Amino acid sequence: MAIRRTFRGGIHPDDHKDFTSSLSVQDMPAPDRVVLPLRQHLGAPAKAVVQVGQRVAVGQVVGEATGFVSAPVHASIAGEVTAIAKYRHPGGFLAESVVIEARDAAPEGDESPWPPEPFRMPGASHDYGSMDAEHIRSLIRNAGIVGMGGAAFPTAVKLSPPKGKKVELLIINGAECEPFLTCDHRCMLEETDKIVHGVKILMRALGVSSAIIGIEDNKPDAIAVMTKAFAGVLGVTVATCKVKYPQGGEKQLIKALTGREVPPPPGLPLDVGIVVQNVGTAAKVADAVMDGITFYERTITLSGSQIAKPANVRVRLGTMLGDVLEFCGGLKADPAKVIMGGPMMGVSLSDLDVPVVKGTSGFLFFDGLAAAELEAGPCLRCGRCVDICPLRLRPAEIAQFIEAGDLDGAEAMHVRECMECGSCSYICPANRWLVQLFRIAKAKLNERKK
Ligand code: SF4
Ligand code: SF4
Repeated sequence: MAIRRTFRGGIHPDDHKDFTSSLSVQDMPAPDRVVLPLRQHLGAPAKAVVQVGQRVAVGQVVGEATGFVSAPVHASIAGEVTAIAKYRHPGGFLAESVVIEARDAAPEGDESPWPPEPFRMPGASHDYGSMDAEHIRSLIRNAGIVGMGGAAFPTAVKLSPPKGKKVELLIINGAECEPFLTCDHRCMLEETDKIVHGVKILMRALGVSSAIIGIEDNKPDAIAVMTKAFAGVLGVTVATCKVKYPQGGEKQLIKALTGREVPPPPGLPLDVGIVVQNVGTAAKVADAVMDGITFYERTITLSGSQIAKPANVRVRLGTMLGDVLEFCGGLKADPAKVIMGGPMMGVSLSDLDVPVVKGTSGFLFFDGLAAAELEAGPCLRCGRCVDICPLRLRPAEIAQFIEAGDLDGAEAMHVRECMECGSCSYICPANRWLVQLFRIAKAKLNERKK
């Protein structure tokens, strides 16, 4: 029997993946209009490099990166730029965005064929074995690739360790531990070859000879397919992880697969010689480095009790949620709660007039029962939150400090280290709003630091 790796703590919520795990990814046709926020990644927002009235090709850059930790944004449909203005971002804020509307023909007097050929980056090649690391990094950077697991950290930055830090292992995250989401699962089944190339390219960029792909054992078909695909690839192993939330957290996956402990913030996986990338990111890397394709579409999962037909769909970035819903057959009834991402760490949407962005792994639609907020009671001192916290924090005590207005006390109890996984709130029999308190406390501490 295969060894199933895991970490200390964690919880076992129902995974609800049956709704979509066996459904192949559908391709949604390009919409007539997209709204592309220039902030779709962690770091500095991109800066628009197109003007209203300008025609653009699919894949063409419309926003350039503005710093080392930044990423460019690309046109996801061919058409005309009709606005550059602030629009609602799924994160809840207003973000400068480039709006493109499809056009039937080239402008009058312009004899060029329409639509134009999709843009492809020069310098891409299937012969990546002869590319040096900087060439690979520049293709990944120029393609605008960011982590597909939700955090949207620019991938090229993760592949550029600072001087003095030695990377010796690449971990590929195929855990997908958030309930309901299945886009990574389908990616492993349907884009296996791309992932194989992507992993080899990432290993070359990092100069490492070993990689481990971690997959939770609720995806036996993906484990079988990936094990077969990597059988002849030197230095790469596929490891089975126990189904446990948050197995897909970087620190938890590293602990499960290697036994190494990433130091508390500002400690990074790099401090233990490891870089972690998501399976979907590896597939995007293959597209960029081998075929020059920039990041302008992604697969998302649509699920939850209120959606008529749960689905995995490949959509152009900037497609409005309403258009995706229409393509998928709409809702059964008005949802009481809509979440972008998974139910544990996703973002509740107050406005549904928002676009798909690079970090969108899915949208979940819940009825009143599933979304009901249970009344919070006093702490029962049961200690369950302490037992399951994957970071070994003491949630009940931290909450007491915050409720007493003692931010310094909460900081001394390491509230800043909280990864906001929500496991303590999930397990608490008194329904205490622990993770919500920690989010607020962290925001206040950050504000105080400015
Ligand atoms: S939300 Fe924070 S305190 Fe609660 S279990 Fe997760 S890491 Fe621990
Ligand atoms: S799980 Fe809830 S009730 Fe139990 S100690 Fe933690 S905060 Fe208190």
